Amino acid sequence: MDPTYSAEAEEYREKIRGFLAEHLPADWAGVGALPAEQRGPWLDEWRATLASSGLLAVAWPKEYGGAGLTPMEQVVLAEEFAKADVPTQGGNDGFGIGMVGPTIIVWGTEEQKRHFLPRIISGEDKWCQGYSEPDAGSDLANIATRAVLDGDEWVVNGQKIWTSQGHTANWIFVLTRTAPEAPKHSGITFLLVPMDQPGVEVRPIREMTGEALFNEVFFTDARTAKENVVGEVNNGWTVANTLLGFERGGRSTVLSIGYRQELDRITELAKARGRSADPIIRQRLAWAHSQVEILRYHGMRSLTASLAGEQPGPQASIIKLFWSEYHKIVTELALDILGGEAMAPTGDTAGSSIQAFSGGELTSAAAVRTFLGARPGTIYAGTSQVQRNIIGERVLGLPKEPRADAGPWNEANRRS
Ligand SMILES: Cc1cc2nc3c(=O)[nH]c(=O)nc-3n(C[C@H](O)[C@H](O)[C@H](O)COP(=O)(O)OP(=O)(O)OC[C@H]3O[C@@H](n4cnc5c(N)ncnc54)[C@H](O)[C@@H]3O)c2cc1C
Repeated sequence: MDPTYSAEAEEYREKIRGFLAEHLPADWAGVGALPAEQRGPWLDEWRATLASSGLLAVAWPKEYGGAGLTPMEQVVLAEEFAKADVPTQGGNDGFGIGMVGPTIIVWGTEEQKRHFLPRIISGEDKWCQGYSEPDAGSDLANIATRAVLDGDEWVVNGQKIWTSQGHTANWIFVLTRTAPEAPKHSGITFLLVPMDQPGVEVRPIREMTGEALFNEVFFTDARTAKENVVGEVNNGWTVANTLLGFERGGRSTVLSIGYRQELDRITELAKARGRSADPIIRQRLAWAHSQVEILRYHGMRSLTASLAGEQPGPQASIIKLFWSEYHKIVTELALDILGGEAMAPTGDTAGSSIQAFSGGELTSAAAVRTFLGARPGTIYAGTSQVQRNIIGERVLGLPKEPRADAGPWNEANRRS
């Protein structure tokens, strides 16, 4: 691991700083400093600026509309954007640019790459993730949504759940069961399905934040073209895992920058509320500082692996486990500093489900919103228990958990 950046990387940093200076107002203080009603439109405009400047999907090859940046340039860009508190993407891009796009680059046909990738960047196609089902969460390979080939089309029947951003998407990548008589990991196919059709129904689920960011998605004789399979038919489990590597390892090199900004604000909050002399609060802040530093070193390790040409693999679980557990604790600390105020929060809720936007005041409403948003961090993209199993089995090489489901999937599930 070499924490110094090359001269070329520093040169690229200047270029990105120039871009930010050109496109952000001189008094830019972060998304959180914008009036609440201007935030949504500004984020949309910012995404359009990135797309027209060729700075979306920075890892993708230029021939498919990406920026074709080197891994080092990608990290420098992400660092500078995080420091300036501007997003590197918008809307459903976490699923399109962050997950299905890179998976299509690894597994897709040339035709799929030429068709789907530019449409993700232009925003014409907005994606969501159809993995989880009522009986398939941690045990993801237990999915029961069926796909049957009918002439030139797949016919899909079944139900997905917890589909984030399903209400703003027009395409969904779906794990389907195509060979029920095969063992459960062997009969799965990774399908791309258009959502604007009568056979796909999206029903919102309201969360404890009061928002409805995820959904149930029902497929009733939904159809998609035969060629919309990524990878081979019945080889979807391998493709699904490639995507999970991108999902869990994404942004790992720059995660600590956002958490550092957040912790600095929580420390300021402790000072402002006269809690910084409290020995327990001080101890908890010091602990949080050490965690953010550890996350920074994890980021450097990811960067080193990425510079060596490695794709995120099971090691991504270490970072996923680390940040999600940390974030639950530090957001609780913010509420403890606020004390009674957190019981009746006021002010702008400014924040995404991951972090309060910096720039503005860390209001009690924003702190509570972030606290609630941090709770499911240890559930989505695989629970902490599942990450520990992966680390045990696939990173440390410990014996695998005993499995009672080696035979045909339909016999274990008593389904046809
Ligand atoms: C905010 C949010 C957004 C989400 N977005 C999406 C999305 O867009 N698309 C999508 O497909 N899914 C999404 N999910 C679903 C998420 O991936 C699942 O909730 C998760 O994988 C856990 O599955 P489950 O809820 O069925 O819990 P279960 O699998 O039923 O787990 C229940 C408990 O048992 C534990 N457990 C289960 N198996 C084991 C084991 N083998 N060893 C030890 N402990 C175990 C779990 O850790 C957990 O604590 C989202 C979830 C949340 C909370």
